[in-house]
Amino acid sequence: MESAFGHRRRSVAVDVGGVMVGGGHPIVVQSMTNTDTADADATAIQVARLAHAGSELVRITVNTEAAAAAVPEIVRKVLGLGVAVPIVGDFHYNGHKLLLEFPETARALAKYRINPGNVGSGRHHDDHFTAIVKVALDNDKPVRIGVNWGSLDQAVLAQMMDANARLTEPRDARDVMIDAIVESAIRSAELAEATGLAHDRIILSAKVSGVRDLVEVYRKLATRGDHALHLGLTEAGMGMKGVVASTAGLSLLLAEGIGDTIRVSITPEPGGDRTEEVAVAQQVLQSLGLRSFMPQVSSCPGCGRTTSTYFQELARDVQTYLREQMPVWRERHPGVEELRVAVMGCVVNGPGESKHADIGISLPGTFEEPVAPVFIDGALDRTLRGDHIVDEFKAILDGYVERRYAVPGAGQR
Ligand code: SF4
Repeated sequence: MESAFGHRRRSVAVDVGGVMVGGGHPIVVQSMTNTDTADADATAIQVARLAHAGSELVRITVNTEAAAAAVPEIVRKVLGLGVAVPIVGDFHYNGHKLLLEFPETARALAKYRINPGNVGSGRHHDDHFTAIVKVALDNDKPVRIGVNWGSLDQAVLAQMMDANARLTEPRDARDVMIDAIVESAIRSAELAEATGLAHDRIILSAKVSGVRDLVEVYRKLATRGDHALHLGLTEAGMGMKGVVASTAGLSLLLAEGIGDTIRVSITPEPGGDRTEEVAVAQQVLQSLGLRSFMPQVSSCPGCGRTTSTYFQELARDVQTYLREQMPVWRERHPGVEELRVAVMGCVVNGPGESKHADIGISLPGTFEEPVAPVFIDGALDRTLRGDHIVDEFKAILDGYVERRYAVPGAGQR
């Protein structure tokens, strides 16, 4: 598959519990729970919600014996909810112990994430790392080697900083750190392969929290081999800052064909909806033309020509309506996720933008004649008037979806 901007970087495909990552397969959306993994009910429900929202892999933290013990039950409960999403275990510090002490957990997980900066130091580092890799080998599981600059392998960093200090013209410490992040990922992949793990059982990531640093790290990582890459801005932040920073970082790299799976790591509001990170990841991919998940609504920002809230309400209602219809439409009308709808505020750009969409409506601006032309497939279809424009437009949308995305043979029994 090619990106909208050119060729995707060539990478080796990795099978993660039946979901293919890399190798030209569609870029995979993933997410992570924030429940206590030891609480199997809460975690299973959140895994299912994330999967329903569109997360194609879901990661859970496995940080304690209680959490490790709960994993098989979580996997069973998620399946019991009718959800078949692969569940990935996130390990730090004690992963080597937990995976050996809880063999059923090692079998139940679809992939293990190892942070090479958090597997122990000194002579223990390689022992703990290879212990996890051997469990992966025994259970035929892939691993993600996930470097994070907040927990960068200090031995690699110190070694590279020392070498830099000996140069007659030492490089900037930031540049050395970026190289150390990349180096930690590459050396760990080499160690995993030397331990026996196949090349196509390894995914790499090297996350940082600054957009420019992220782009630099991944551009370098992308040139160091053909491992599938998991992309994400770590600790992206909250609200608009997190969404915009993640979008900026991911978009720059995806546009260059770098990245085989993505996660958006935004901090939710207290009690907020964890599935927001899935919606943002999907929107990034759809906005870049890399995948389609939801019908897209183009609406103008409004201006002095739209002095009532009527136009904003219609744009919101149409967006909500499409989202609510999708669970049914997705089943009955394959391809509907590529539908383009326009909701425009007045005649200035309304008819033109509506003609470019599959179906569009141009509302009357202030002082304009109170009529709303509807365009279908680029041509004026009809003109709506009166107090029921919203409901009439939704009915027109329904009819269009029924016709345009009809399954051949459906209804002929
Ligand atoms: S389409 Fe009309 S209402 Fe919308 S921004 Fe343009 S001029 Fe303003």
